[in-house]
Amino acid sequence: MSHLAALSKLLGSDTSLISDPDITASYSRDQAPFASAAAPFAVLLARSASEISIALKYANENSIPVVTRGAGSGLSGGANSTADSLVISLEKMNQIIEIDTANQIARVQAGVINLDLDTAAKEFGLAYLPDPASRDWSSLGGNAATNAGGMCCVKYGVTGAHVRAMQVVLASGEIIELGKATKKSVTTYDLLHLFIGSEGTLGIITELTLNLEIRPAAPSTLIATFPSVTKAAAAAAALLQYRPAMLEIVDQTTLKAVEAWHPLGFEVAGSVLIMQLDENHSLCEAALETCKQFDLIDGVYSDDPADAADLIRVRKLAYPALERMGATLLDDVALPITKIAEFVERVEKLSKEVNLTIGIFGHAGDGNMHPTIVHDHGDLAAAERAQQAFGKIVEIAQSLGGTASGEHGIGSIKPGFVTKEISKTVIDLQRAVKKVFDPNSILNPGKKIP
Ligand SMILES: Cc1cc2nc3c(=O)[nH]c(=O)nc-3n(C[C@H](O)[C@H](O)[C@H](O)COP(=O)(O)OP(=O)(O)OC[C@H]3O[C@@H](n4cnc5c(N)ncnc54)[C@H](O)[C@@H]3O)c2cc1C
Repeated sequence: MSHLAALSKLLGSDTSLISDPDITASYSRDQAPFASAAAPFAVLLARSASEISIALKYANENSIPVVTRGAGSGLSGGANSTADSLVISLEKMNQIIEIDTANQIARVQAGVINLDLDTAAKEFGLAYLPDPASRDWSSLGGNAATNAGGMCCVKYGVTGAHVRAMQVVLASGEIIELGKATKKSVTTYDLLHLFIGSEGTLGIITELTLNLEIRPAAPSTLIATFPSVTKAAAAAAALLQYRPAMLEIVDQTTLKAVEAWHPLGFEVAGSVLIMQLDENHSLCEAALETCKQFDLIDGVYSDDPADAADLIRVRKLAYPALERMGATLLDDVALPITKIAEFVERVEKLSKEVNLTIGIFGHAGDGNMHPTIVHDHGDLAAAERAQQAFGKIVEIAQSLGGTASGEHGIGSIKPGFVTKEISKTVIDLQRAVKKVFDPNSILNPGKKIP
């Protein structure tokens, strides 16, 4: 009997097990443009942990690779499948099980979309804070599996800081619970956080218990222009004293791309910082004074929520403006905040060497930069140079004490860089951990660790 027939029999006739190649092909890749992918032999649109348990048990016994898929918004090829694999999609497991206002937690199935939870929490004056730019379509399970960040994470922390407990289906098919719904818990080793950022390589997250917070007040927004990215980056480090709930940077190349599309008046700026304060709004004036120490060209702020959208517009337009110029490769590295300026200068030099536009923007407050390489559509030689530049950017970050990924994950496109920043002993420990949870290496093989 084929694997498809056997799985179908085990799961029952009303299960959504898809083998139509036109449909399975649409589950074969995420949003990373150059990661390899091939249609899986089947896609299971799982409806429960028990269905996943049955499928994993069979896959484990038959050494079938399994690729877990949230919403497929990933940018590292993490959810990309191979020809002989089974994709397990969590998209149908999208129930908010409970919002417990007294304990300020939510219990959700892993396929719930991030923004849907925040919208539901809003009715109770609460918020689910981690805010990846993809929050209107990425899943909470995918966010946990990549430890997703976002703009407000400079103040509130990334996804992992908001997860209290989870249900996981192991490769063996066994269903386990990790963590506690309590706010504090230090009993035994912290296996919960081993699964945060594990990118589908240790087990499948089926349920999450997440922190909800009292909804922050509408923020004041400040935008400041500087003559150079060096000055803006130095100012960013100084602005952390005001506990910003957002601190973003945009470089001159990206500003020029935005200006060419939507003129916003940044022609003379070498770089822009955008900051939000959701408490101590009165500190905006002091923050502007701080900016003056770094050759501020111009700065404005407003506590009117209606102005906020206008003031952060340049940051929102950063990536789409570069996308308009050609095919893009969006990189993701994290650095000590004090190294941002040097990083940007070295990437600008690289841009000249490879003769390609590289715009840089990102979460200055976290040192999490997104250099975006642009090349002409259909220019294969330029695409090749772009891929090389993508790797060189990672190496520049690593040489400055940074890391290969701040939030998008390692997936299938960056395992080769891991050994450049992690010792062999630690890699061996990581491989040993993987073996404990997934002895037959069926879960997202080849991803996350080399
Ligand atoms: C326009 C755009 C903007 C983005 N902005 C941000 C941003 O600001 N911050 C950020 O961090 N990321 C961002 N991303 C990347 C992406 O949205 C995140 O990585 C997100 O967390 C992925 O969620 P997903 O549900 O789409 O997961 P997928 O892409 O489906 O999967 C991502 C990884 O998680 C694994 N996985 C998914 N679900 C589970 C599960 N239930 N159990 C175990 N493993 C699982 C997959 O196997 C894969 O390795 C952006 C992407 C796009 C396209």
